[in-house]
Amino acid sequence: MPLGFRKSAGDRKAPAPEKREAAPRPERNVVLGEVEELGIGMFWATDAEDRLTFLSQRALADLGAEAESLIGTPLTRVFLDVEEEGSASPQRSLAFKLKARSKLDEQIVAVPTARGATRWWRLNGRALIDAKGNFQGFRGSAVDISAQYAYETQVARQSQVDELTGLANRRKLGERLAAMLAAFRASKRSCALMMVDLDRFKQVNDTMGHPAGDELLKQVAQRLSAIVGQAGEVGRLGGDEFQVLLPDMDDRGTLGELANRIVQSLSQPYQIHGRRAIIGTSVGIAVAPYDGVEAAELTSAADMALYSAKETRAGTFCFFTSQLRDAASKSALLGDRLRDAVDKNALKLAYQPLVDPETNEVKCFEALLRWHDEEEGDISPAHFIPIAENDDLIIRLGETALRQACIDAVAWPETIRVAVNVSAKQFVRPGFRKAVVGALQASGLPAGRLELEITESVFVGDLEEVDALFRELKKIGVRFALDDFGTGYSSLGYLKHGHFDKIKIDQSFVRGCTENGDINPAIIAAIVALAKALGMETVAEGVEAMDELELVRARGADLVQGFIYSRPMTQEQVLARFEAEDAEFKPSGPPRHRSERITIFRKVGLIHEDHYYDVILRNLSKTGARITGLAGVPVGTDVVLDLGHGQLVVSKVVNATENSQGLKFETHLIADGSGGFMTRHRISPYSLAEAGIPLAALGAGAFPLAKWREANKSVPKFVQLELSAPGL
Ligand code: C2E
Ligand code: CA
Ligand code: CA
Repeated sequence: MPLGFRKSAGDRKAPAPEKREAAPRPERNVVLGEVEELGIGMFWATDAEDRLTFLSQRALADLGAEAESLIGTPLTRVFLDVEEEGSASPQRSLAFKLKARSKLDEQIVAVPTARGATRWWRLNGRALIDAKGNFQGFRGSAVDISAQYAYETQVARQSQVDELTGLANRRKLGERLAAMLAAFRASKRSCALMMVDLDRFKQVNDTMGHPAGDELLKQVAQRLSAIVGQAGEVGRLGGDEFQVLLPDMDDRGTLGELANRIVQSLSQPYQIHGRRAIIGTSVGIAVAPYDGVEAAELTSAADMALYSAKETRAGTFCFFTSQLRDAASKSALLGDRLRDAVDKNALKLAYQPLVDPETNEVKCFEALLRWHDEEEGDISPAHFIPIAENDDLIIRLGETALRQACIDAVAWPETIRVAVNVSAKQFVRPGFRKAVVGALQASGLPAGRLELEITESVFVGDLEEVDALFRELKKIGVRFALDDFGTGYSSLGYLKHGHFDKIKIDQSFVRGCTENGDINPAIIAAIVALAKALGMETVAEGVEAMDELELVRARGADLVQGFIYSRPMTQEQVLARFEAEDAEFKPSGPPRHRSERITIFRKVGLIHEDHYYDVILRNLSKTGARITGLAGVPVGTDVVLDLGHGQLVVSKVVNATENSQGLKFETHLIADGSGGFMTRHRISPYSLAEAGIPLAALGAGAFPLAKWREANKSVPKFVQLELSAPGL
């Protein structure tokens, strides 16, 4: 009886069974024997109950003599299914095929041997049906592919899995993203891509060694996987870059919350080989199909958002907007110009007073860098410091500022200190102590009048080295202020070391703290109490309104810094105050804090009934906006504001002058993570595609509804004023 084995790659040399069928039939066992002798195939058979009834000699030899005891065992317990890594079309289970009596075609199985090892076989076989049509069992052959299989699976794993963390690797992520976007396009689903990048990972690697860096990455991978859970897929792109793929996610509120949790969690301290390390995290977010419909497009959008998150302030997240694309190229140019400015000594220092709110006496001035660029105008240090931090420029910049601040402070009354900002990169670099000593000596400023403002981000890498540096500088008499307290690693441990003389409560807790239901007053009170207990002074930063001043004073802040007392001033202005013996700063500002508004001047769209108007956005808050450009719009009118990029906001006109209207939003906007506001949801490019606009990521401007105006030639209800403004 012919067995009809199919040929497979491994047993090419096998005599073709079909041919033998036609030839005079040799004895069955002889054929089997001959084939086996050639070292080609192994044979097996089952009965109608799928139990193993026969294993040929070679098969027994392969598995060990004990394998004879397998006779009578259900085949599915002898041959186990294996998962093929990375296979495009995974094989059906053996049980399924046996049950369906379907042909076994190159089925790969694992065969546990009696000695506890595993062999991998590739099976071929088919059901044997007798003349009466009854199923008699399976007859099949097998090839041992163990050596090849082990190698191939390793290669497959290597190309799919990041060896260090066990997460998906760059290649797998790329394939997944492309496949997901293609599939989702058909079903009009959305998908978010997050780029997660560790801040100052290199420092940990450099100071604690590579094994510590590896361990840190493993722990990061665990935390990240725990947070994302079933919601998406986490992978490592390489280095300290991770990626999260989140299917069916387009709610930017939810995404922001998730990003925030990632930042918070990854910023908690790590225990590495008995030592502690702290790193920061930045996250960039892009959402398909809004920000990109192709994998490359979406990835570059998320990258740009990440870059922007890192630039604004490390330890935050940022959503992609199309403005970022322009900003990215701009900041590269800015780096060159900054270098130029530093060379030419074109950066100046401004001084902002820190005032005792009980007496209105100034106790200290904080030195803040100012850069006026011929082309760009005034550029904020919040913008150029991160650029300088990208390379060693920050060291030169920081040391120049330090020297100049010391020189300037010598000219002030002896009771007044100067506070200088020190970037973490500058602080941890060898030679910082020398730079401080040098600046003090060159200026003659007593060390006790110099205060260094440092953020929590110095507590990364080797904490012992950082501790030692603090101790050395404190021995000289220099004081330390912990800047931006509350924004960083939310770890209070290092406060106990007693490095700091002062805590600066971050502006984000102060601004708006008088609004009803705000928990910030409680946070401020708690920080003040903590600082007092540890013998530190507190400063409330960013106080702008009288009610905020009252609140921080009542909660016990020792000093206040903010526009309420003074904006940063030039050295000449400072000296003029002292010469006029006018060192008292009187608070002046609005009585109450107003809900944060961003003053803007941007052309947007406004839809009323079936007409589309151009208007100018003058300011924007979470709850409303002010627009100009239309005349005669009565209070109570329902309109839709088109903020561009698919952001539509249902609004009501709540107050109006002749050509300016205040709008109240039906649904509040959400923070975009970098100081602006955005809508939670956007209209999908899929719905636009349905309306005949080609599928593409949402573009800039009042797109896409501006197109709509051409189609709607109805008579407008309101008078469109000429929008003539600079920059439009
Ligand atoms: P910072 O150290 O938190 O400095 C306080 C910032 O808050 C300053 O911004 C100051 O002008 C601003 N500010 C003070 N009071 C108010 C207020 O009432 N309302 C508002 N809205 N803002 C207020 P500035 O000068 O733009 O500096 C931004 C950041 O740049 C600084 O934040 C600091 O981190 C960095 N920076 C400035 N100068 C230096 C420097 O010499 N070295 C380093 N490493 N960083 C610097
Ligand atoms: Ca500061
Ligand atoms: Ca600050």
